[in-house]
Parts: sequence; structure tokens; C-alpha cells
Amino acid sequence: MVTAIVGANWGDEGKGKITDMLAEKADIIIRFQGGSNAGHTIINQYGKFALHLLPSGVFYNHTTSIIGNGVALNIPYLLDEIKSITDEGVPAPKILVSDRAQILMPYHMLFDAYEEERLAGKSFGSTKSGIAPFYSDKYAKIGFQVQELFDAASLKEKVYRVVETKNVLLEHLYHKPLIDPEELLKELAAYRDMIAPYVCDVSSYLWKAIKEGKKILLEGQLGSLKDPDHGIYPMVTSSSTLAAYGAIGAGIPPYEIKDIVTVVKAYSSAVGAGEFVSEIFGDEAQELRVRGGDGGEFGATTGRPRRMGWFDAVASRYGCRMQGATQVALTVLDVLGYLDEIPMCVGYEIDGEVVTDFPVTTKLAKAKPVWKKMPGWKCDIRGIRKYEELPKECKDYIETIEQEIGVPITMISNGPKREDIIYR
Ligand code: GDP
Repeated sequence: MVTAIVGANWGDEGKGKITDMLAEKADIIIRFQGGSNAGHTIINQYGKFALHLLPSGVFYNHTTSIIGNGVALNIPYLLDEIKSITDEGVPAPKILVSDRAQILMPYHMLFDAYEEERLAGKSFGSTKSGIAPFYSDKYAKIGFQVQELFDAASLKEKVYRVVETKNVLLEHLYHKPLIDPEELLKELAAYRDMIAPYVCDVSSYLWKAIKEGKKILLEGQLGSLKDPDHGIYPMVTSSSTLAAYGAIGAGIPPYEIKDIVTVVKAYSSAVGAGEFVSEIFGDEAQELRVRGGDGGEFGATTGRPRRMGWFDAVASRYGCRMQGATQVALTVLDVLGYLDEIPMCVGYEIDGEVVTDFPVTTKLAKAKPVWKKMPGWKCDIRGIRKYEELPKECKDYIETIEQEIGVPITMISNGPKREDIIYR
């Protein structure tokens, strides 16, 4: 039985917490896309962790954590991340890495930084983790899969061939130091030794696991609106953030994904540039930012202040539809307890007309939010474990969102800890 846990918004919905929670009853947790460019914050008995590359199931003894072929695999980063959790007393997790995962090369991060520098004010707001250059190379077929590290002769030939083109760009476009192919080969030999203990034919492993009835979780990174096809292109990420891609990025049949837990945030936040219709500014935004998440809405990877906004029903309904949501986990609801009134964006006004279907980016750029105001509940709802015990205004807010998105809200997260959850 395979369950995907994915985001309906711009990312940072709290997928890490939900995955960590559901992983208690799972056998295998897989990252299927993205890289170390986004973070998941998890709080448990060992402490508070910001994971970037490891799946959020690594804190249990009984789980196997997998880096699927769809991930941008930064090998030294992965090893550092494993060490960072074992240093805090977490038992050494069981980790497998797909032999088809592609390697984030040292030069991908450099190219990411150089390109942002070149674009200056017109940049994408990249986290400079090398993700865009990595995926460009993957699809240009000049990337390197993990398995290629183990064939020295062909690796050498390919490294020389790839470096030739990289160096043209470095010299003539970016005016930066060139790559020495022999140095790169030495680095890749070190990568090979680091990753060797984890390498696995993941799709075959998962095929058997599915046959044995194992419980498998696919953990997504970012959210629907950052998907390269269905998101706010071009201000998107470089790998698909949708549950459907979980089948490809993990190597399992699409029909095995039976349940798609879509995480929806009770207000909005976004990192990086791009259209964001329900965005708010100034003091109103700062208050929500400081109260938001666990200790404020600041990026887990970069520490950057996140852009803030109210709940966007148009974007979230679309986000759930593109994920194929079977159920929704509504998160960070506790944060809104300070408000007398809670605005909700229920439509977009574009050229004098109100639309409720999420439009393409060029239209989105002209959209103005249509607000509906909901009464606030003006109290702290943390610690509540039963739906009936929530204040009436809070239940109204939840049920209005449920009507808007058209998917049952089965879980309500009212705090950052594992146990801060209301099952409905
Ligand atoms: P992810 O990338 O989707 O896993 O999300 P992040 O980890 O970047 O952001 C979620 C933030 O909100 C983290 O700091 C979590 O600890 C925190 N968080 C998750 N669920 C809740 C919740 O229900 N209430 C509050 N207050 N914080 C939460």
C-alpha cells in the first residue's frame, strides 16, 4: 500500500511533520524528487531537526529511508545530514539510495550561483543548491547516475566530454575559474566510496516490498504551485512536485499509489519570486510571519523570511486537484488564534471579471484577490485532540476550507509536535 504525502501550495505546508507522524506506522519512506533545496522541520523526542535530503522517516528504528531516482543527490550533503542526526543520538537509520539517482555535481552549485549573479535583479530566487543546473543536465543527458561512478573507464571519458562544454560557459559567459577534469575525477572517486554502502536497485526492492504488503510513503518536496508543468512557471522548481511523479521518481507502478494525503496550510507562505495573489505586506504580514510555523516563517534551508498571505481557496483547490488529493491534512491552524477576523481569498479578479479556477501565469500576474472575511476564534487551540472541542468559529473556518477545496479534511495539525494532531 503506497501513500503519497504532498503539498497543495507553494511548499512549507508542514509535510515533514505529517510524514514523520505517519511514518510511525510505515515500513518505507521515499523521497522521489527535489534535492537539498527545501527543508522539512521535524520536532520529536531527539530534538528539532531541519532535514533537507533525508526522508522524514529516519527517526524510527523500524523504517527504511530511500532516496529515489528522481532526487538530486548531493552525496557529501547526504553523508553530513546522516551524521548530523546520529550526532544528536538518533539511532543510525537504514538508508538506501537508488543506483539510478543522479548525482548533484560540485559544479552544479557553482553554476546556480553564477547564473543568479548574472541575472541579478531578474533572478529566480534560487537557493543556490544547484537544482536547476542539475535537472538541466539530467534532461540534456549529460548528468551522471550513481551507477556510473562504478565504471571508471566510461566515467573518465564522459567527465572529459562534459567538462569541455562546462568550461566554455565558465570562461566566456561567467568569467570564472575552469574545472580540472582530473580533480573532478578524484572528487567523484571519493563520492563513489561514500555512497557505495547505500546503493540499491530501488525499483526492484520496492516491487518486492509492495508484493509483501509493506506500507510505503512517498514524501514530496515543495507543492503543486511549484510544479514545472502545472505551477507558476517559470517561477517553479525543476522537478515535478506532484504525487503522480512519485511513481517515476521512486520507480513504482502508478496504480500502486492508493492514497494521496495532500497537506494544505491554513494561511499562505512562499519562498522565492513568483505570482502570489493572496500575499499580504507590511505589519500585517510581519505579525503572521513571526507567529507562523514553529518560531516564525523563515526558510529552513536559507533562513530567508518567507512571503506571507492569507489562505487562498483558488490556489489550494487547484493544488489539491493537481495532486489528486484523496484526503487533506490542514496545518498550522493554531497560528491564526490571534485574529479577530480572518480573510480568505475566494476568487481572483482579472480584467474586471472574477474567476475561481486557477489561471495560467500571464493571467495570474493581473489577478487581484477577492476576500471573504471569517470570524476569528481568539484563543489558543493547541493541546485540543478532539474535533468537537474546537471553538465554533474554528470549525467554521475548517469546514469553509473543506467546501472550497472539495476534499475531506481528515487531519488538523494544531502545533508543530507529532502529537499535535486532530483526526477527524
Ligand atoms: P515542509 O517543507 O512542508 O515539511 O514544511 P516546513 O517544515 O518547511 O514548515 C513547516 C513549519 O511549520 C515547521 O517549522 C514545522 O515545525 C511547523 N509546523 C508544522 N505543523 C505545524 C502546526 O500545525 N502548527 C504550528 N504552529 N507549526 C507547525
